[in-house]
Amino acid sequence: MNSPQEILQTVFGYPSFRPPQDAIIDTLIEGGDALVLMPTGGGKSLCYQIPSLARSGCGVVISPLIALMQDQVSALRQLGVRASFLNSTLTASAAKGVEDALRSGELDLLYIAPERLNQERTLALLKVSGIALFAIDEAHCVSQWGHDFRADYLRLSILHEHFPDVPRIALTATADERTRQEIITRLNLEEAKQFIAGFDRPNIRYRIALKHNARQQLLRFLKEEHASDAGIIYCLSRRKTEETAYWLQQQGFNALPYHAGLDTGTRADHQARFLREEGVIVVATIAFGMGIDKPDVRFVAHLDLPKTVESYYQETGRAGRDGEPANAWMVYGLQDVIKLRQMMEGSEGSEEHKRAEQHRLNAILGLCEITSCRRQALLAYFGDAQEQACGNCDNCLEPVATWDGTEAARMALSVVYRTGQRFGVNHLVDVLRGAQTDKIAQFNHQDLVTYGVGKSLDNNQWRSVFRQLVARGFLSVDLERFGALCLEEKCRPLLRGEQSIEMRRDIKQSKAKKQTKTQLPVDIDVALWEALRECRRELADEQGVPPYVIFHDRTLQELCVTLPQSLSQFADIGGVGERKLEKYGAIFLAVISEHSSASAIMH
Ligand code: ADP
Ligand code: ZN
Repeated sequence: MNSPQEILQTVFGYPSFRPPQDAIIDTLIEGGDALVLMPTGGGKSLCYQIPSLARSGCGVVISPLIALMQDQVSALRQLGVRASFLNSTLTASAAKGVEDALRSGELDLLYIAPERLNQERTLALLKVSGIALFAIDEAHCVSQWGHDFRADYLRLSILHEHFPDVPRIALTATADERTRQEIITRLNLEEAKQFIAGFDRPNIRYRIALKHNARQQLLRFLKEEHASDAGIIYCLSRRKTEETAYWLQQQGFNALPYHAGLDTGTRADHQARFLREEGVIVVATIAFGMGIDKPDVRFVAHLDLPKTVESYYQETGRAGRDGEPANAWMVYGLQDVIKLRQMMEGSEGSEEHKRAEQHRLNAILGLCEITSCRRQALLAYFGDAQEQACGNCDNCLEPVATWDGTEAARMALSVVYRTGQRFGVNHLVDVLRGAQTDKIAQFNHQDLVTYGVGKSLDNNQWRSVFRQLVARGFLSVDLERFGALCLEEKCRPLLRGEQSIEMRRDIKQSKAKKQTKTQLPVDIDVALWEALRECRRELADEQGVPPYVIFHDRTLQELCVTLPQSLSQFADIGGVGERKLEKYGAIFLAVISEHSSASAIMH
């Protein structure tokens, strides 16, 4: 039997484990069970792939993500691992071929859809085959409270009953305690060792900007930072995803819409193009979600505010699974705040449910308005306290100015009160600024003491004040009278002058410093980089696999920097195992040497 370290190097081409991968792998090799909580991109797959290779028999991976199995298997085969999958996309004869291979011990890894495993004949098959371990991926699907619940997952406890001696590993990126407990009880994992990695995704840069012209802001972000990158743009409504996608197409981007209202064929096609082609942008509702296991998504953009911090974290987490720099970019504004508050106030349910919703909403709004490190706030929300500010979020990179908004807040609250808590923001700002409108004349609001007291702030500044007051819960939004602002209990001390309030000074993006590109490391030879990517694309096309299955971006970047000239130098590059060295080493070395002689002539 090869040691895990040897397998890591020769098969996967990586020099060392990322803790706690090694401890997890040892546990399984020794026959123990494990429960693994690791963020997306943390490296969960190796935790079951390596023990499957090290132990005798085949590792059986249960995953609900049928669409991904093909690519996962292709990637493993590229490494020389004997992998296959069993799911409903296979023809009967193809499935039989896989079953025969399993029975005769010719497989190292088998991916199975959960519904298959619940069939008697599959169990019978497994019983006559040697099984190295069971890996239950996306284990949070057993949770009936979560949004990814799969009834088939509930029956997975049969694994323990039928195969008491086969080690099991359950894996998830979902953090919370309650889900974890549910996984343990429902899958009989009381004896399992728990491995809980931190939830930080240090390569993701969090940025939340004020929305003024969302499309132009988005366009600028894409042009300046992600001109040819793959990414996901989230919107709340189906219509908006389509409109945004078509608009981006007109701007020259390879953008496709994705939402639950599209027919199955179109959805599958758009998802496949996103996975297979390079530089495709998907504009989606949250229907585009779980199972987007593409490692090189360079940005996730939100044009609408997600409802909770959990969904924000999950959605942004789809960026940068390969560990390379990625952007989580969002624009939000007063209308988003009002919309979410309204949605919440109009929701059905018990008082307890409403309080929980209120709490979640405050958390996401708080994240938007916060002036200190966003990553600290995010991680603190998940119970993972960090001492240091991160240095890789907008607030760390460009500290936010604050101002004493006490006086302005009092004026704003007072105008809400004096106009009878019946008006929306636009009118309230008009009154404060002393505007002359029909509405003001109609309600005689020019006679109020607050009329015209706020001329020192402009329209945008007042909107910013109202937004922050709503976001922080001093004002609420009346659902019955569309958009009318009302006072909340919380504003009393502020009105009485017993409390002061610091506000965020909103900056227009145009004035803000240009953001640094996240894409390529400095000093990279762009022509060589493109040549290597072209070579990768051709190899991928020939074999009908996504380009990252051949080599990850990271590997190509290392090639650009180290410029290997021999196979033995090539073998030292991260992500180059024995099989890939054999298959691709010479081809890429040729690209590199061709390129260096070409540039020698030119200089
Ligand atoms: P997860 O399933 O937790 O989201 P993956 O298993 O897909 O994460 O791994 C994410 C990325 O990290 C992959 O590109 C993988 O090859 C890489 N990776 C995992 N473990 C290591 C390691 N020990 N050294 C280098 N790269 C690693
Ligand atoms: Zn930070």
